[in-house]
Amino acid sequence: MLIVLLGPPGVGKGTQGERLARALAVPKIATGDVLRDAVKAGTKMGLAAQAAMARGDLVPDDVILGILHDVFSRPDAAKGAVLDGVVRTTAQAEGLRDLLSSLGRSLDRVLLFEAPVEELVRRLSGRTTCSSCQTPYSGREPGTKCDKCGGTLVRRPDDEPAAVRNRIEVYEKQTAPVIAWYRKHGPRVAAIDAVGKPDEVGARMHAALHV
Ligand code: AMP
Repeated sequence: MLIVLLGPPGVGKGTQGERLARALAVPKIATGDVLRDAVKAGTKMGLAAQAAMARGDLVPDDVILGILHDVFSRPDAAKGAVLDGVVRTTAQAEGLRDLLSSLGRSLDRVLLFEAPVEELVRRLSGRTTCSSCQTPYSGREPGTKCDKCGGTLVRRPDDEPAAVRNRIEVYEKQTAPVIAWYRKHGPRVAAIDAVGKPDEVGARMHAALHV
């Protein structure tokens, strides 16, 4: 199955995407993770994307479509994938559709996670992230260690309050129109209430996949 996860920053796409990918035995591809790895490695793509990411702005569509192009040439994505954090503009939606169609593939489902803005700000301002494997944590201080890999937890520069506000604005301006685009062009968009414990939201997600 090939699934796109949509929803504002902090809504829990990463956490739920991880569960879904495990359940479907397909990779979870998060463009944010790919870009943060590129920044850390100091590649050309990372250096070009770094400033926009720190402000909470989007990186250019052609960079994202280049990442997607690489993703779909990976053998582990042949059976499907869970795409987290992509697509974020209608140009990316069109680019992904064209790329998949050139490979004789198409998306199966779009899952839209929803939560009130105050909840997103609360979650993001209390979030730390493993600098090594990118696992997110809530209620854990920067400098403590990741349970999964022992890496050091850090506060992402774009989880600082000014960048969070900008990311939410960018979502409303540039990414919300993608919902209308998928409702028009397909595949089916299933909306999921993302307020609640991860297990509760996970159960709603699985139910939404099967309707
Ligand atoms: P995320 O981890 O999904 O919150 O992404 C972190 C940052 O990476 C975003 O604020 C953007 O700067 C950049 N980014 C990730 N995915 C995309 C995308 N599909 N389009 C544009 N920028 C992206």
